[in-house]
Amino acid sequence: MTRLSKARGIVIHRRRVRESDSIVRILTDAGQSFEFWAHGIHSSLKNRTPLLIELGSLICIDYYESTRGVLSLKEGVLENRFEELKKEYNDVTLLSYFLDLTSFIASYEASLPLFMLLSGSIDTLCHSKRKSNHKSPLRHHLQTALLIIFFQIRLLKLLGLVRVETRCILCDNFLNEEAHLNLPELSFSCKDCSPESTQEHFQLAELISSGASHKFGKFAKYWTEQTSKLDLPKTYHRLHLSLQDFRGREFSSFPFLDFGQYSKNV
Ligand SMILES: [Zn+2]
Repeated sequence: MTRLSKARGIVIHRRRVRESDSIVRILTDAGQSFEFWAHGIHSSLKNRTPLLIELGSLICIDYYESTRGVLSLKEGVLENRFEELKKEYNDVTLLSYFLDLTSFIASYEASLPLFMLLSGSIDTLCHSKRKSNHKSPLRHHLQTALLIIFFQIRLLKLLGLVRVETRCILCDNFLNEEAHLNLPELSFSCKDCSPESTQEHFQLAELISSGASHKFGKFAKYWTEQTSKLDLPKTYHRLHLSLQDFRGREFSSFPFLDFGQYSKNV
């Protein structure tokens, strides 16, 4: 006996097996993640085109579940290919980064907030891409960089690694003007507990706290005006390393972000 089910979700990982098959991992809009076989997908039939299992696409599928628990694709519909992100190399690498990180968290613990974060981030990136014009490329680059940083903070929050409040990990008082970043756990201590505290680390604590507690629009608006307070490339790299430390090995992508005039020390 096999059972027929439906799912709607984003393709977050796939690997080709044999000549015409692939094994595909999807993150569904119900916050679940599973793998299914797409038999014969690369020999292109009408309702099973290879486009259906393209990385980053939003799809609706019908799939069988065998008694042994193996899932296999029956047919499906491509709901959104997010073409804006698949034309230029830089956008492709950004999308790969979103998917690479999401795939790692989904293998650890899939959830509805993870789906909302991924689909919201892809939508925001597409929207920003459509709106961007040659008059304000710098602003577009900054918005993209802030979106990636926001995405990293939210993933760290899902993993329980960052706190919403800017409190000292040692005495629990609120941080004030200066702080010290403790690694690898990504916690902060206050200047009374850690005399080596700096303003830069305090700003990083503020950035993480605002990313963990506010929606992207508010986060981006605030930090667009406060870019002089932070070294954004360093922050991006720091958050990436923290996710990597948690994972225990490197991610396959680490896209170059154009911080333009907002780079300080690079
Ligand atoms: Zn303290």
